[in-house]
Amino acid sequence: MSADRDSAGGAPPLAATVELVRRAIALERKQGYQNRATTGGLHRYFQHQFGKHTLDERTTPLVEGLLRDLKRYEGAGSVAERHTQTEIVLRRLEDPAWLATAPVPRDTAIGPVSPDHRGDAESMARVRGGPLTPTKEPATAVAWQTTGTAVPGTGETSASPHNRPQSASFAIGVPTAVGRQSQAAPDKGGEGAPAPRAESLTQPLNAVLKIRAQEWEKLERLGLRTVEDALYYLPRDYYDCRNPVPLNKLRLGMTTTIVGTLQTVNVRKTARNHTIVEAKIADGTAIVRVSWFNQQHVARVLRPHIGQRIAVSGHTELYNNYLQFVPRDYEFPDEDEAIHTGRLVPVYPLTEGLTQRWLRGVIRKALDAALHLVVDPLPPDLRRDHALPPLQEALRAYHMPAGEEEKGAATHRLAFDELLCVSIGMLRRKRDWQQGAPARPIPHDPDALERFEAELPFALTGAQRRVLRAILGDMARSVPMSRLLQGDVGSGKTVVAAAALLVAAQAGLQGAIMAPTEILAEQHARSMARVLAPFGVEVALLTGSVKGPERKRVYAGAADGSISLLVGTHALIQEGVTFDRLALAVVDEQHRFGVEQRGALRQKGYNPHVLAMTATPIPRTLSLTLYGDLDVAVIDERPPGRQPIETSWVPSDATAYRVVREQVTAGRQAFVVCPLVEESDKSEARAAVAEQKRLQRDVFPDLSVGLLHGKMKGSEKEAILKRFRDGEIQILVATSVVEVGIDVPNATVMVVQEANRFGLAQLHQFRGRVGRGAEQSYCILLAEGASAVGQQRLQALTATDDGFKLAEEDLRLRGPGEFWGTRQSGVPELTVAGVGDARVIEEARGAAERVVAADPDLTQPAHQLLAARVERFWSRGSERS
Ligand code: ADP
Ligand code: MG
Repeated sequence: MSADRDSAGGAPPLAATVELVRRAIALERKQGYQNRATTGGLHRYFQHQFGKHTLDERTTPLVEGLLRDLKRYEGAGSVAERHTQTEIVLRRLEDPAWLATAPVPRDTAIGPVSPDHRGDAESMARVRGGPLTPTKEPATAVAWQTTGTAVPGTGETSASPHNRPQSASFAIGVPTAVGRQSQAAPDKGGEGAPAPRAESLTQPLNAVLKIRAQEWEKLERLGLRTVEDALYYLPRDYYDCRNPVPLNKLRLGMTTTIVGTLQTVNVRKTARNHTIVEAKIADGTAIVRVSWFNQQHVARVLRPHIGQRIAVSGHTELYNNYLQFVPRDYEFPDEDEAIHTGRLVPVYPLTEGLTQRWLRGVIRKALDAALHLVVDPLPPDLRRDHALPPLQEALRAYHMPAGEEEKGAATHRLAFDELLCVSIGMLRRKRDWQQGAPARPIPHDPDALERFEAELPFALTGAQRRVLRAILGDMARSVPMSRLLQGDVGSGKTVVAAAALLVAAQAGLQGAIMAPTEILAEQHARSMARVLAPFGVEVALLTGSVKGPERKRVYAGAADGSISLLVGTHALIQEGVTFDRLALAVVDEQHRFGVEQRGALRQKGYNPHVLAMTATPIPRTLSLTLYGDLDVAVIDERPPGRQPIETSWVPSDATAYRVVREQVTAGRQAFVVCPLVEESDKSEARAAVAEQKRLQRDVFPDLSVGLLHGKMKGSEKEAILKRFRDGEIQILVATSVVEVGIDVPNATVMVVQEANRFGLAQLHQFRGRVGRGAEQSYCILLAEGASAVGQQRLQALTATDDGFKLAEEDLRLRGPGEFWGTRQSGVPELTVAGVGDARVIEEARGAAERVVAADPDLTQPAHQLLAARVERFWSRGSERS
């Protein structure tokens, strides 16, 4: 077969066959993906069809790729997969490379059609069983148009965007040099080599792009393996170096791009043997000297470009009283489309040994090579309702935004997707579980509750009563409770849990409470035993430190039901632990646990009611999403008589020690939290040991200074805390282990060293260790040289001790992704979700509710791709946890 025959009409032009594929796919969708649109199956049929064409080095891979996709389509095991595969095929047909080969304008005759081709077209129509209906379009492109119009309404599900008529501007004829040129165009190397193109999103990145082994290894470390990984490896930030200025307009404090002619490149050594690459750039208004420090390779890259235009992004600085331009990136504008300069430049998370410039280039090439393969999982109507740009567009714009507006729209789209996936996952989780086996309804005895309150040393606050009513209401139902109790530090959540656990015990059922640290578990065991003792509730403790016969006893007691309340750490959800009739599971400081761990505790019982408690107040909108599987109740009132904690931020420790001494002299106690040590618990412990020694020896030799850190044995911790509680220890030096739960009301001073290294939520938690009694309490934050955001955090803390206000502030400063450490393990990371953009959160949540209400299992064709996306999103979450 010759090219002549192709164009002269022996075989239909390639475009006609391509169009046949499109029609066949549409027919497949109509018929429910039975692979019956063509005789003998899609792959065989089109193998035959394409076999009639003369393919060249450019069209061969296109056709091969398409045939491979059709083969995959046939091999796909489920309707969902087949649907996805059709999307992929349709995307492939949109590849601009076909256009160069697709010379079939709708309004132009394409010459006689070979009889065998017509025959095939008719066989398609026969299989479908429909008539060959007349076509609205000119009946010139007989074979494929007849078939095509016999399959009207290809706009079902999300297919419509792919089925829009191709532009009518195709040239007729076989692939020409023009076509080849347009192929080469995207290749910025300019050597005429074709730009790399990926065949599928799951292809390894290094199969598509040239990447050396050493860099490949580093990419893998970043989790970048497939082409798709690269597309979704999103910038963490951008730097804005738009609006290039003439060199004579450079002023101090500018971040911009300068463009000029590269005049000279010199390398010199400084006295200290550093290398400086110095380039002179001129633009007719001035000459500027730009220096690269210790980057000798830059000289090698720059030199061949002397005399050419260069763009350098960076900022101005004063150096020895001279204004100098500090380069950040450069490129040669005559040759490349701007990636590194003169635009909003993406900044990616990096790992050692990779440069921004290099990674930016890789991601840019990956976009060119594979973006066309991305299929949009959102049903078109949903996209329309929320005015969301198509996914391909959003991904491209998020990586390489043309401007703020485009970036904004892309952010909105990608944030929406993330939040939608989280919300759908959460809603389905809740639904699955609530519609599963029923829980045991636990009725409560109002008299017993009254007696419980009478035994307390205080009266419950209105808020405590209100949430307790809601909880007891939930527990009385046969739908398992799934409730999140939010209340600021010190708001009195424990006693609410105790009341609920008492109700369970009195109904002859078992309860459990799980805490994130041994210290907290021990404290809970003690206080639960105390308040529940008058009611004869048998309380036991299970942590990693409970060993030997005692552990056996606890296992046996839980299994035979003689223990009514088991308090513990995650030891509770280990394999050996079984309950006779666990009916209420409480998870304290639940943000410290993952969704899975919460689920595991649930598994321990016969569908127990679950109460999760957290001191991290989360703005409502966000909690709806992040804790979408839970109903939320809030304690928004503090126990009476509490005075606001006086919080100050001081640069030196002298002030802090003075306050500590004053308070200790007045009979109170103090915490000193040591700086966060990143490397390990061990080095953190070591730092705390040294600090305790120093304070005891140099600062408070006359007082008793104790030490508490995470590496101590359970019994040691217990002993230290007991001595602190009993007042034998006056100052407790601790690591961040004191963050949660510890309740020693006589402690009135909290000193946090290097406070700028902790997050807002953590600092608020530390502060919550004091102010638990009626005395005035103090929180002293020591910090020097905090970053701007660090300073804002510290300022926010001194301005308010209302956890909810701080939460809003933190949301504003950091966005929901890192919000309050709310990223639970098991819940995928939100990388885009808008910084404080409550609107997207609500929109996505609303959309998720509608989707799940209409199609709980996401089995409708319109939701197939979305289902796959949600699945993948969540599997990423569990990979990381
Ligand atoms: P959190 O909500 O941070 O877990 P806790 O449950 O530890 O708070 O309670 C903090 C302190 O307040 C405890 O010492 C507790 O006994 C006390 N408390 C709880 N409720 C009240 C109340 N209604 N009146 C006075 N003190 C209370
Ligand atoms: Mg607590």
